[in-house]
Amino acid sequence: MSITLIPSDATLGACVRDVDLANLDDVTWREIYAAFLEYGVLAFPGQHLSEADQGAFATRFGDTEKLSPRQKGPTIQFSNKKPDGSLVAPGEEAFNIMKGNEGWHTDSTYMPLASKVAMLAALVVPPEGGETEFADMRAAWDALDDETKARLEPLSAYHSLYYSQGRAGFRHKTDNMYGFHDKGAPFRPIVKIHPETGRKSLYTGRHAYGLPGMSDVESERLLDKLLEDACQPPRVFRHVWSVGDLVVWDNRCLMHRARPYDPKHPRALRASRISGDPASELAPTFADTRASSYKPTSSNISSLAR
Ligand code: MN
Repeated sequence: MSITLIPSDATLGACVRDVDLANLDDVTWREIYAAFLEYGVLAFPGQHLSEADQGAFATRFGDTEKLSPRQKGPTIQFSNKKPDGSLVAPGEEAFNIMKGNEGWHTDSTYMPLASKVAMLAALVVPPEGGETEFADMRAAWDALDDETKARLEPLSAYHSLYYSQGRAGFRHKTDNMYGFHDKGAPFRPIVKIHPETGRKSLYTGRHAYGLPGMSDVESERLLDKLLEDACQPPRVFRHVWSVGDLVVWDNRCLMHRARPYDPKHPRALRASRISGDPASELAPTFADTRASSYKPTSSNISSLAR
């Protein structure tokens, strides 16, 4: 039996039915992968995958990243519930990261090797809110006029999680979390050519800053405007989570963001993030000027690293 693909009304996104991701043969995998490249984001409702089955599906896309020292295999659980059963609250570092994800971004652009694919599976969902939205940066690029395209094509930006979290109003305190590193800020072209489809897309997001030759204000104004204009209908696909859903997306041509929810409710997602290809997702790094202004002090490093 062949899979059933239900494209969304937007320029990206499709829902996939009549497939069991826990028992995937190679023919079906190739069908799914072709749809993934075409639609950018695929939602698989009601899969209820085990951790091992999600891991097996994730590794079909490539090598998985380790997002925390506690991650052992290809998946990691993102939950707002702490080991003592209480929920992460405003003001806590993990809460700040979660709130930061409400800004449009593509994953791991602040790492020297950015991510190519990411997936989430819903384990616990709040009664309302907490959706994930995706924006089609291929269609956003296509919608620009030739003059704008010509002006943007030679530009590159630095990417830093210190920058994006700082701008969102969160002062970073620890140095033991994924993304806060001293390898420098990757410098990436703001127009990306997809290594498999050859399509161009806007590659910016909340982590991008410091377009060379512009003041901070000019650079932020241009990057903000590009992102704001890009992330508009019909280029936005929203996924409303139900327990058991799995969603996979292409970080090489989409942006995504989390939508807010009441933090008094538990929420848990199982994530897998697939490393980019060094040929297309590895960027040179330079001094991260935003990291130095948010450098943790030696006293709070030692207290939190223990
Ligand atoms: Mn993300």
